[in-house]
Amino acid sequence: MKLPPFDYAAPETLGEAVALLAAHPGEAKPIAGGQSLVPVLAFRLAAPTLLVDLRKLDELRDITITDAGVALGAMVRWRDILNEPRLRQAHPLLVAAVEHIGHYQIRNRGTVGGSLAHADPAAELPGIAVSCEAQIVALGSAGKRVIGAGDFFHAALTTALRPDEIVTEIRFPAWPRQRRYGFREFARRRGDFALAAAAVSFDEVERKYRDVRIGAIGVADRPIRLTAAERALEGRAIDETIASNCAAAAAGEVDPADDIHARGAYRKTLIGVMVERALRDAMARAIV
Ligand SMILES: Cc1cc2nc3c(=O)[nH]c(=O)nc-3n(C[C@H](O)[C@H](O)[C@H](O)COP(=O)(O)OP(=O)(O)OC[C@H]3O[C@@H](n4cnc5c(N)ncnc54)[C@H](O)[C@@H]3O)c2cc1C
Repeated sequence: MKLPPFDYAAPETLGEAVALLAAHPGEAKPIAGGQSLVPVLAFRLAAPTLLVDLRKLDELRDITITDAGVALGAMVRWRDILNEPRLRQAHPLLVAAVEHIGHYQIRNRGTVGGSLAHADPAAELPGIAVSCEAQIVALGSAGKRVIGAGDFFHAALTTALRPDEIVTEIRFPAWPRQRRYGFREFARRRGDFALAAAAVSFDEVERKYRDVRIGAIGVADRPIRLTAAERALEGRAIDETIASNCAAAAAGEVDPADDIHARGAYRKTLIGVMVERALRDAMARAIV
């Protein structure tokens, strides 16, 4: 399918890129890897008159690991994350989730900023951002904003970003040494978007679950935290038998819609299974 006509610019600086978006309010769109935007244009879901290519903005390609946590520039690609061995220690849950994204070709082009701005409810990074309470940094003509991931995703393909704002980075809080994690995803074929996925983490403190976070992907119009499932664990003694209660709580608090990929009832059952498996993985890691 042919794309609608558009003008094209590849600014040399972030400031120029923001100025271009601001000069064409609501009519210009950034393009990063193009993996989601190009299909969107082909299906006429959007018809911007100007594409602002971010490919020359090398300042958005940094992966920074400090005591405060991990920061990923918006133009960091999935491949860059998987090729950075320090991230496996600094944020193993992030790496575990990115391993499920697409195929070789997609990982070579798809970016962090593009995934966040596109806001597919079945995408891995937005789910990890919400479950880990990451912060998303955006720059627009009014200046810089730092938006909590929980406030960033408003609905499918809809975020808190203003039309002249560019995502510049995402910041994850530091990963404590005592944190245990599991990530489970079910997709029809390896590399497809998730039908449902669960990101579970907790800190093991005196053999109890503390700071439990359970994120769900693919079961609502945005990535969500499963707070009833979190409460089923928080403060209790770490114990295998609790996993099925937690899974039941998880399934009980979602109400996914039917769509062309799966019935809502199927996804509801599936998220319980994913949460239970991810939790068991996390507990198995705790024993090691
Ligand atoms: C076959 C296939 C399989 C895939 N499988 C998966 C999968 O399993 N999991 C998954 O998560 N994703 C998957 N993807 C999507 C892929 O990861 C995309 O790369 C990603 O969703 C968007 O990143 P991008 O850099 O390509 O963004 P683009 O397509 O360039 O842009 C997407 C949207 O974000 C906006 N945008 C881009 N960068 C910025 C920025 N810095 N600031 C503000 N707005 C910006 C654009 O204007 C556009 O609206 C798949 C894609 C394909 C084609």
